[in-house]
Amino acid sequence: MNRKILATIILILFQILAVTSAGCFESSTSAKLGDYAKDYLQGSKYTKLIIEIDYVEGFPPSNQALDTLRSRMYSYCDKPEGILIIPNSIPKSSSTYSDDDIRDLEDEHRNYHMKGSDIVAYVLYLNGVYSTNDDALGLAYGASSIAIFKEKIDNADIPFWATNQVDNTDYEKSVLIHEFGHLLAMVNIGYESERNHEDIHKHHCINEKCVMYYSIETVSIITLITQSNPLPPSDFDDDCRHDLNMLKIGGY
Ligand SMILES: [Zn+2]
Ligand SMILES: [Zn+2]
Repeated sequence: MNRKILATIILILFQILAVTSAGCFESSTSAKLGDYAKDYLQGSKYTKLIIEIDYVEGFPPSNQALDTLRSRMYSYCDKPEGILIIPNSIPKSSSTYSDDDIRDLEDEHRNYHMKGSDIVAYVLYLNGVYSTNDDALGLAYGASSIAIFKEKIDNADIPFWATNQVDNTDYEKSVLIHEFGHLLAMVNIGYESERNHEDIHKHHCINEKCVMYYSIETVSIITLITQSNPLPPSDFDDDCRHDLNMLKIGGY
């Protein structure tokens, strides 16, 4: 065969292969929680972050929580082309959600996947409760996927003496940032911190003033409301920041 024709055929085959693998990248079941942490944090491969939020009708995210999320992501993730938040409503289909129900909803409604220089985080805002733990306020269940139990957050108790200083939107901020923290591999998901700050509740931080403290993602968040510190934490402490930065610069 003519060498020029052979080279052309090889090039076409290579291009078909490249397109196919890019399109299928995230549908692969091999990606686990924490696997995209460096892709979220670093700015070289993925320069834009798309946060797709599908919320059950009547349970939208609060604007204040989204503002806090946007500002935290800008602080920790290097995304020179920006962060785009895209909310959409979906019909109510249940009042109790299992892992399979949550994955099915994502399969049905998710529109955005990693493509070119865009990386995506997918957030489901749900009514009702998580079937595995009906005290759960949030859940990170995939390398790029989070569920927020908004109705549960809206109904979570606040100590009567703190109602002038705290409202349920403050809970929502903390839960949302906490679950994003798990997407960013906090704590010790697929890396080992050089600082000893992982709690006995795995993949959480020992510092109750850190957003990665374990009780933030359940109704036990109420125990963090104290006279001296009425607001639940919505930011990472020094140890978690150290890990985020190490992942960002390739130190882990
Ligand atoms: Zn957690
Ligand atoms: Zn921490």
